[in-house]
Amino acid sequence: ARRNTNLREMDIASHLHAQTNLKAHETTGPLIVAGGEGCYFYDDSGKRYLDMHAGLWSLSLGLGNERLAEAAARQFKTLAYAQTFGHRSSEPVIELCDALVNLAPVPMSKTMLQSSGSEANDTAVKIAWYYWNSRNEPGRRKIIARKRAYHGTTAVAASLTDLPHMHAGFGLPLPGFLHVSCPDTYRGPNEGESEAEFATRLAEELDATIRREGPETIAAFIAEPVMGAGGIYTPPDTYFPKIREVLDRYGILLIADEVICGFGRTGSWWGSQSYGVQPDMITSAKALSSSYLPISALMINQKIYETIADKSDSVGVFGHGYTYGGHPVCAAVALETIRIYQEDALIDRAAGLDAVMRRHLEPLKDHPLVGDVRGRGLMWGVEVVADKQTKKAFEPAQKVGARVSNACFQKGLNTRAVGGHVLAFTPALIVTEEEISTAAGLLTDALDQVEAELKQEN
Ligand code: PMP
Repeated sequence: ARRNTNLREMDIASHLHAQTNLKAHETTGPLIVAGGEGCYFYDDSGKRYLDMHAGLWSLSLGLGNERLAEAAARQFKTLAYAQTFGHRSSEPVIELCDALVNLAPVPMSKTMLQSSGSEANDTAVKIAWYYWNSRNEPGRRKIIARKRAYHGTTAVAASLTDLPHMHAGFGLPLPGFLHVSCPDTYRGPNEGESEAEFATRLAEELDATIRREGPETIAAFIAEPVMGAGGIYTPPDTYFPKIREVLDRYGILLIADEVICGFGRTGSWWGSQSYGVQPDMITSAKALSSSYLPISALMINQKIYETIADKSDSVGVFGHGYTYGGHPVCAAVALETIRIYQEDALIDRAAGLDAVMRRHLEPLKDHPLVGDVRGRGLMWGVEVVADKQTKKAFEPAQKVGARVSNACFQKGLNTRAVGGHVLAFTPALIVTEEEISTAAGLLTDALDQVEAELKQEN
């Protein structure tokens, strides 16, 4: 197994990496991923890794899918690009927007395409602003998101996000972006408080925040059905209905960020269906194209569409859109992805694998390092804690989550410590029971190893 040192040096010399310690990269260099098949990828030394994170919760059909490669090749030859400004469109774009509106968990009116989840959320916020401006309430500018949320990386999407390293040094969040508590059912509920009572308390917190700020200043609330990168928090069943009640009291719009949860991850087409979310706008990306090509979608309901359509008549133009919004090749691949979900019944398959994930992961609750195991469908998290009784977290500086994920990686298992302390188990929808079982075994070994190391250090 030979590694390509030349490429490694080129990378260190020229590639600005995302979400990492830039200085440390100069010593470590990159992991060069060279290829893969299904749920496995391999590096340039030929070492194989079982990918339990499916890329970044995105590679839903795994690597090497011939149908997607052929759909892209066909579309490249037919029409590689057409812009969609003004009244132009192309066949795959029309078919995809129609398919999405038909699949939507609640009645949706229109779909707008972009290239990334961040752009979709950015667009949703701009549409919320445009909506309130159209209704002669331009003072409604503030957006409420939730603590620990990740919604992307553009200046607006990073402002919706509440992860300190995404704000520090960038002067973010922008003014008018607020964050309320998230439904962390592991640490959130008070002593003796039921999940339903906890959900009610969170809705009351939202209500109090809106009243404090003044409802006439609030445009929208955004949430993922299951919070992903913040730590895989599945909400109590009553949480979203209660939140919707509060928002309705003040006419505030609800944006569901389905970038991770959409397309089967929680065992339904949409996380909104699994958790009773009734959104006015929905954003999706990632599994929309199994991440083979960059594409995201924003859906808006009829109430919003009517309002902004009237307004754009009066000023002449709806002034938003991207060069790559509605790229025909990306749209063709997304359409083919959706057809594969349907023909291979992969959403039902994800629901069925819930029991398999549960069977393999729940026993880890007995591990000395594991405080909680939670999830649904193919979206599971294993939370490491310093003290199981008190639920005390490890100090962030100890980086225990990262140590476990690094130990997994050495053993050939790819996962990630999301929120710093929750090992993500979010494989492709094509994952087999055997692969889940193998992965759970490797995670157990990694936890044992880190536990032994920590004992030695103390
Ligand atoms: N929303 C959520 C919930 C996400 O997890 C992500 C990406 N991890 C995004 C938005 C941003 O998507 P992108 O990286 O495609 O901009």
